[in-house]
Amino acid sequence: MLLAGALRVNLLTKILLWMFPVALPVMGFTWSYYHVQLDASAEQIGNIGSLASTSGAQRLNDFLRLRVSEFELLGSSINSCDNVGSTDNFVLSVRNVLQQSQGFSALIIADEKGKVDISLTARASSSQSELPHTLQGSWLFDAWHFEHIDALFQRWRDDLPELQQQKNELFMQALEMERRGDADSVDYRRLQNRIFRLTSHIARPPIHIDYAGGQEAALLGLLFERDTFLFTQPLLSCDGHLKGYVTAFLDRSKIDEILNDLRNSLADRGINTVDVVLLRNNPLRFESDYRYLSVAALQKSGLPSGAFRHQFDGFVASAPVADEQVLNQLMEQVSTTTLNVSAAEYQKAINQLSSLSLLVFIADHGWREGGKKLLLEASTWLLVSMFLLFVLVFMLAQNIVAPVVRLKQSVAKVEAGDLSVKAEVSSSDEIGQLASAFNRMTNALQRSEDKLTRLAREDALTGLMNRRALNEEAIKERHRAQRLNTTIAIAMIDLDHFKEINDRYGHAAGDWVLKEFARIMQGVLRKTDLFSRIGGEEFVLLLPDTDLSTAHRLVETLLISVQQSQIALENGAVVQLTFSAGVVTWPGDCGIDEVLHQADDKLYQAKLTGRNQVVS
Ligand code: GH3
Ligand code: MG
Ligand code: MG
Repeated sequence: MLLAGALRVNLLTKILLWMFPVALPVMGFTWSYYHVQLDASAEQIGNIGSLASTSGAQRLNDFLRLRVSEFELLGSSINSCDNVGSTDNFVLSVRNVLQQSQGFSALIIADEKGKVDISLTARASSSQSELPHTLQGSWLFDAWHFEHIDALFQRWRDDLPELQQQKNELFMQALEMERRGDADSVDYRRLQNRIFRLTSHIARPPIHIDYAGGQEAALLGLLFERDTFLFTQPLLSCDGHLKGYVTAFLDRSKIDEILNDLRNSLADRGINTVDVVLLRNNPLRFESDYRYLSVAALQKSGLPSGAFRHQFDGFVASAPVADEQVLNQLMEQVSTTTLNVSAAEYQKAINQLSSLSLLVFIADHGWREGGKKLLLEASTWLLVSMFLLFVLVFMLAQNIVAPVVRLKQSVAKVEAGDLSVKAEVSSSDEIGQLASAFNRMTNALQRSEDKLTRLAREDALTGLMNRRALNEEAIKERHRAQRLNTTIAIAMIDLDHFKEINDRYGHAAGDWVLKEFARIMQGVLRKTDLFSRIGGEEFVLLLPDTDLSTAHRLVETLLISVQQSQIALENGAVVQLTFSAGVVTWPGDCGIDEVLHQADDKLYQAKLTGRNQVVS
């Protein structure tokens, strides 16, 4: 039991030791796989974040570019000189124009001094409500706002003749080229483009793009929670005089829609902890909702572009919202309509546009979760498979190694002389067969050893105990007698005139008579009496728990049985047998040889005094 326990502990330790070199590389692999996966994820997150910021900025940029074109159209339809005035029809048509608009949420028509005439919002369904009526007759904008626009307008008007002149010259050049047959050339097309642009600039006064801060927004009845852009154009009467201004407010909710779209597209890819915000670079502030990243943190660490930042625990990328094309479009408008005037003032508005960035922030913990989940999954599977492997190896060890070890221990016992050992046959496989063969072998060995032992103790002729067996048994009997305090009697018996039988009938007949004598004696003796042949025709009878007189009587009874027995020989002759016997008791203080000697003395007396008698 203890051995089995020790064997099991030993096995478990071994199995665990074997599993170590298996588990280590697997764990190493899992760990490095996790890191590779994490690196790959980081790179992917970087790419996604950068892409989201540039594509988002591009969408905003496209949105702004379209607004410029849209306002040109919107301005030109309102600028029809017939419409100018505050008639209901005009209001209706302005409302109509606004309803068609995709990117403007409010329109204000002011008179030439800047006083609000009409204020309208685009859709009831949008986040904006109808502008308050109180706005009518108010001065919504700072004086400088319209002063500035008016100055630009005056310049444009002053420049009109020159612009007209330029246009005519270009027109003449075009005609000349047509005449020369160069109408298909690139130069001709460029010329046509310039004429087209000049025509549209001559037709309408310049558009002014400005930035509406929180103040104006508040005055507008909180149209937007945050700043937005204003597009303003002077309104002209039919004779070309300034009648007022039309100002359109960019629909901020459209920008927020774009930002939301971006957030949603990132969420679709499983990235949920994100900020997609509109950022004003100077001064640094957010122009849209944010949840994870603060301006204060950005101000501390500076605006990053496309990098993982420890300070923020995430990836940050930003891209400018207004690209070259939008800026150029505006610049072109400025330069072609204001000619000699420096673009510096417009540049201010453009700067405001160009200083907008789209910022995308992706928090680390969001995308790292995936990696951790992967590691956890891999570790769980590793543990499960290691456990199964452990069970497998343990079972193999139990079923193969343990029986072999037990068999080896049995072999060692046999080697030490213990043939009674049996191997446990616990299966029918080769190991079980080996155990069975081992058991058969030990059985055969036991049988042949038993036979040898028997032969060593048995008299070959009569089957009685021999002298050696008598010695062994006598010692046992003597111990028992001493323990039980009983008496042992010993009779030494010698057949009378046996030589004559040999001489008369031959040696074989003598042997036959010896056998018959043994059989007759055994027929009378008790099971506990030990009868042995110690020489040719000399026998010893050991009688446990028998005193001298009982022994004497018993031996005489035996003698009578022998005397009365007719031993028939093969040749038909009948032998009449007698014996002489000396009977003694075995005193406790002498050995077997000595007591036999004493019995022999008595036997000698029996022989001397006539044979066929018992002397004690
Ligand atoms: P007594 O003892 O009466 O004096 O006469 P005895 O003829 O028996 O004399 P003794 O005991 O000296 O002789 C023993 C004889 O027994 C001698 C031998 O021929 C015979 N004998 C001894 N062993 C065997 C045996 O194994 N087989 C046969 N057939 N004869 C044996
Ligand atoms: Mg003799
Ligand atoms: Mg004799």
